[in-house]
Amino acid sequence: MGTGLEVRGLTAGYGQIEVLHQVNLHVGAGELVTVIGPNGAGKSTLLRTISGLIRPTAGEVLLDNRRLDRLSADLIVRTGLMHVPEGRRIFSRLTVLENLEMGAYTRNDRIETDLEDIFNLFPILKERRYQRAGTLSGGEQQMLAIGRALLGKPRLLVLDEPSMGLAPLIVQSIFQIIERIRSQGVMVLLVEQNALQALKLADRGYVLENGRIALEGPANELLVCEEVRRSYLGES
Ligand code: ATP
Repeated sequence: MGTGLEVRGLTAGYGQIEVLHQVNLHVGAGELVTVIGPNGAGKSTLLRTISGLIRPTAGEVLLDNRRLDRLSADLIVRTGLMHVPEGRRIFSRLTVLENLEMGAYTRNDRIETDLEDIFNLFPILKERRYQRAGTLSGGEQQMLAIGRALLGKPRLLVLDEPSMGLAPLIVQSIFQIIERIRSQGVMVLLVEQNALQALKLADRGYVLENGRIALEGPANELLVCEEVRRSYLGES
């Protein structure tokens, strides 16, 4: 058993509806792993199950050999797994700074240095720190959601469609930031509609179709794989 995130035989859904069927997935120490796939394949459901928002009906989730799937979402956060959900879910009436401070709620040490690091990563958040988060642009809100997760000092950052709804230039800067986060030793599990960008960034990738892993491999191999090119990279 290695370190990192280990997902085995994960089966989960909503009530009687089973969405994920026996999913196996691994994120090794220092790795950036992406999950791509069509709408409705179950990508968000997979991330929600990993982070404890949905309880699996079978299978297990381990982080550094520690079983997570029986813990509450709150305890899972305390193991170092931070989930940035689709749609960002920032607190729009609170200021940028207050939102960032919320990300540190599991900590009881001082956060000033880490806050400075986040402001170095996202200078715009420093400029806007006393502004209400709801007044930020979409891209800035995504930066805030990522910054808030980073203040929890994650071992593993789980990102659900960070590029969604953002202009191409902003998407570029979000991806660059994800790359920098990984280079600091944080493991990243990234779900993206933008398969090309995600595979360019990732070490390895999984293709999820109808709640099952249809393909997996090193990202550079998936990028040249016929099936992936046809279905996900818009090539005929
Ligand atoms: P997208 O990229 O469109 O968000 P996805 O791959 O993330 O797709 P999910 O959001 O995980 O897919 O949805 C997988 C399936 O589960 C879909 O059929 C969806 O309708 C269903 N589903 C998602 N959320 C719920 C819910 N809260 N209750 C019932 N069914 C749900």
